[in-house]
Amino acid sequence: MTPRAAAALVSPPDPATLDAMLTRLKLTAIRDQLDTLLAEAARRELTLIETVAYLCEREIARKDARRIDMALGLARFPMVRELSGYDFAAQPAVDKQQIKELATGRFIANGESLLLLGPPGVGKTHLSVGLGRAAITAGYTVLFTSATTLIAQLVKAHTQGLLDEKLLHFSKPKLLIIDELGYLPIEPDAAHVLFQLVSRRYERGSILLTSNRAVSEWGEVFGDPVVATAILDRLLHHSHVITIRGESYRLKEKRRAGLLTASKQRDGSTTPSPQGVNS
Ligand code: ADP
Ligand code: MG
Repeated sequence: MTPRAAAALVSPPDPATLDAMLTRLKLTAIRDQLDTLLAEAARRELTLIETVAYLCEREIARKDARRIDMALGLARFPMVRELSGYDFAAQPAVDKQQIKELATGRFIANGESLLLLGPPGVGKTHLSVGLGRAAITAGYTVLFTSATTLIAQLVKAHTQGLLDEKLLHFSKPKLLIIDELGYLPIEPDAAHVLFQLVSRRYERGSILLTSNRAVSEWGEVFGDPVVATAILDRLLHHSHVITIRGESYRLKEKRRAGLLTASKQRDGSTTPSPQGVNS
């Protein structure tokens, strides 16, 4: 290296030039916090290579946070729920280990589907939002929709001659969450467009579907056993099915609270009565 070149490398860059270079490289976290990050590196007495790694870490952390924020917005979850907030002890039908495995997103990478079945209030939507968030953290794109909204949008697009565009929209996310299938009966036209969507996503993208109806009742839900079978055939081919039983979590909590209060009034103690524990 000539002395001239060496001198060019070590001469302190003017801040505006450095700023422009970092902007061009899209290293915005490093650009915005350069002084603080370098001061921190000095305080920790990091070597040059450690400092580079530290700067890269901060940049990656910012990019990840941005991506997750953006993806959470695009996913349109109806409520904020985390898997960590799910009370597994209250719901023995749900295997915590299985949910943990699903939260890694491997089922999405494999294009498998997941069915969460059970009566109202047992936490199907909670788990699907929690799994959706976990999928986003793991790097997958997610879209949440209720079955009713999804079907209404597909049917509308169909009548406007825009079905292909709509199918594409719902085929893009790596995980499509369809909540509450079966609460309302599905018209034959609607069943047919839903079948087209399921076919299009089949083995390409995952579907997480929640329903209050058992799979054996889907013929009724769709008003057409042939379409129901065709949809189920694709959904169940590579799938995980979790059937949740029991009563609504909120009702159970309310009842438990009621029983505890009642037991206090009876004997003045604050420990739950056997009825309270059993509820
Ligand atoms: P579903 O979709 O099965 O009808 P939700 O997921 O909407 O039920 O649950 C109803 C409410 O009860 C939500 O606020 C949810 O967070 C809460 N919930 C249900 N089950 C549990 C649970 N096991 N632990 C914590 N919260 C729960
Ligand atoms: Mg629900």
